[in-house]
Formats: sequence, C-alpha cells, structure tokens
Amino acid sequence: MPKAAVIYARISQDRVGEGLGVKRQLADCRAEAERRGWPIVAEYVDDDVSAYSGKRRPAYRAMLEAIRSREADAVLVYHVDRLHRRPIELEEFVDTCAEAGVKDLATVTGDLNLGTGDGLLIARLMGAVAAAESDAKSRRSKRKMLELAQAGKPSGGGPRPFGFQPDKVTHHPVEAAVIRDLAARLLAGEPLVSLTQWLQDNEIRTVTGKEWRTVTLRNQLKSPRMAGLREHQGQVIGKALWPPIISEDEHARIVALLTDPARRTNRTARSYLLSGLCRCGKCGGKMVTGQTRGRRRYMCRSGADFGGCGGIMISATVEDLITDAVLYRLDTPELAAAIEGRQRADENTAALSESIAADAAQLDELAALYAAGDITAPEWMKARRIIDARLKANRSRQAQQAGSTVIAGHIGNASALRTEWPAMPLGKQVAIVKALVDHITIAPGTMGARSIDPARVEVHWKL
Ligand SMILES: [Zn+2]
Repeated sequence: MPKAAVIYARISQDRVGEGLGVKRQLADCRAEAERRGWPIVAEYVDDDVSAYSGKRRPAYRAMLEAIRSREADAVLVYHVDRLHRRPIELEEFVDTCAEAGVKDLATVTGDLNLGTGDGLLIARLMGAVAAAESDAKSRRSKRKMLELAQAGKPSGGGPRPFGFQPDKVTHHPVEAAVIRDLAARLLAGEPLVSLTQWLQDNEIRTVTGKEWRTVTLRNQLKSPRMAGLREHQGQVIGKALWPPIISEDEHARIVALLTDPARRTNRTARSYLLSGLCRCGKCGGKMVTGQTRGRRRYMCRSGADFGGCGGIMISATVEDLITDAVLYRLDTPELAAAIEGRQRADENTAALSESIAADAAQLDELAALYAAGDITAPEWMKARRIIDARLKANRSRQAQQAGSTVIAGHIGNASALRTEWPAMPLGKQVAIVKALVDHITIAPGTMGARSIDPARVEVHWKL
C-alpha cells in the first residue's frame, strides 16, 4: 500500500472535454484514492496551453522530481493520456518510477502496475494509444456533439444565439421580442430587406455586434432553434431543452416562405474579375456586381445590404483595362524590387504559421475550459478578444505573403502571362490581380459615353 500518492491532472486540447475538465479529473482521482485508501500528499496540474507554445509542463516535471526524491510512491491520473502526450515521455516516466521503486500507477479508467512486465507493456501500449488518440479526439468530439443534440442541449462553443442569454437556453427578453415581431411582419408580407433596414435603423445588432444583412436575418428567422427545435448537422432531430420563441407552425411557414424558389434572388456564381475590389468614387462604398439590361457591370448600390449611394455604375469591360495595367506592372523593375524586399521581410513565415497554430490551439483550449465550467463566459470572451485580434493580424500578414508568392513567377514575364491570360481560370486571374491591386476607385462617368474613359479608373496598388 502506497504511503504518499500524488495526483496528476492536465487540461487537454479536447474541445468538448466534458469529464476531462481539471476539476472533474481531480475529483475523480481523489475519489479513486479514497476507494483505494491511498493517502494523497500532492496534486499536480498542468495546462496544455503552455505545453503548446513549446514550454515543458512544469507540474509534470515537479511530479517526476517528487518521485525521484522518494517524496511520492504512487501516481493517480484520470487516464494515461493525461500523463503523456507522446510515447517517448512515457519511457522517461517509467524509468524514473523504476529507479525510485514506484510501482503503483492507478488511473480512474483502469489501473496499471508498473512493477510487473505486463504493467509496463500495458502502459507502453496505452501510451501509444494516447498518441493515436489525438486523431480520435475529433471523433469523440463529434460523438459528444451528437449526444448533446440528442439530449436537446445547446452545443458547446461559439457565441450565444440571438434571442438567447449566454446559457443558450434562457430567452433574452428584448431580442426574443424582436424575433417575434420580425417573424409576424415577415409572415404578413413585409420584405426581408425592409426588416433588415428596420434593424439597422433601430441600431439592433447581431450578437457579435455587426449590422444585420438580409442573409443573416434570413438564416436567423428560419433557424429551427427559434421554434424550440434542436438541429444537428442541418437536420432537426427533436425538441430542444429551451423554450420556443415562435411556434413550430410559424417556423414552418417562415421556412416555406424563405425557401420558395420564386422568391430567391438570382445570385450567379462568381464571374467577375474585380469582385470586391472596386470602390465608389462618390461615397467610397464597395461596388457590387450585377447585370442591367443584360450587361455585366460594377455598381454602387444603396439599401440595407449595400449601404452605398447608388450613384456610380461602370461596365465590366473595366476588367480589360485593369488586366492590361496589371500585366504592364508585372514588367516593371519597381515591382521586382518591391517583391524582393518583401520576401526578405517575410523570412519569418514559419514563425508566423507557428504563432497562428498556437493561437488557434489556445482558442480551442479556452472553449474547453468554458465548456468544462472552469472559466466564466466573460473571462472567456475577454481572453478571446486578445487572441482573436492577434490571430486576425497574423492571418492577414500570412495572406499578404501568399500574395507575393502568387506573382513571384510572373515578374518580368508578363508577355508569356498575357498569352496565357484568356485561357486562365478566373480564380487564378483573381489571385494575380489581388496580389497586386489593393482597390480600384471608379469616378463618375459621362452619360451616354460609349467606352470607358480610363481617367475614371484609379488603381491603388498593393505592390
Ligand atoms: Zn456610391
């Protein structure tokens, strides 16, 4: 019987992680110790967040030290996968235990005896299994999602839905009333665009603080959640735990109305080279693409979804003008110099990717902490804001770097590119244009002009 057992717990990367939260691991281990009659002399807890950024797990090292110095003679963990992330770490653990004569390693999920050959073998096997388990984690998390869905419970991560409190179950009194009002008005025939405008006029924002758009409002109003139904992977699978905001009958009518093919606006697949790149010379708004009288155009549009002045339109033949400008620019020595300078500055690309991966992992970890009840929603949001901001900045730097890679092979070789251009897929053309062009400002034109006056078009170069 051990005289000085220790508990080791670790916060994992397991996003759902119910049962693996540190509190739960510790509670289960303490109960197991009591059942076995092992006296606990210390508890060690690590946080995988720091392990991810390359630091060693300090509590784990302290525990090994306690074993080495004979202060501990038995170890209790929730599962072997808490103890080690890689088989190589297990070897060090086994060696340390062997030297110190520690033979008792117990887990809540099944125990091991390190003193026998079998125990060691099992521990090694379990270590190998733990290494393979990171793959299984996504499977477990999917299963967990399904379980939550089947129980009618809300899913773990993400922001609260509009109309509900952060617990995703209790109604938000103001927002729930807004939804009921909008649903009734929609069913009475008011167009979605007018409802969206009303939300904007009343400064009612989405839960992430953004302005509503018809597409977000459409999804909001036809969401089964509003009728107290639980959806899983796009399918309603039963009643939810939360009370409905609108009735199932209203929900069914809204879905029928909003998915009526006759109502759908005609959104064609992307076929515009300069989508998102043109700015209105009058109001500065983003110009959108579309057809008027059968001709492709870029235009500034007013209204809830667009927010422009509606004052400028230009024929899509502006694409030819921009293509020429881009191909011409690819031949300039200034561009070659700019690219070379940028590539030197970008030698830390790998560091950037690492930082992005670490931040993404940390966000997952925070979600797991929140799901396990170890931190509150405000704490979660606060921590997320900081990481999100850094992640966004790093991702945009990464995207810019990718941009210089897109055109690297084409500098000084524009005539070959010019020959290929007409047969090139639009996606590739767009990538090349976007690598060079930040945006294009379109000035007002003369009524009735037959071709585009190049003076209307001002290109703002990235490079
Ligand atoms: Zn405008």
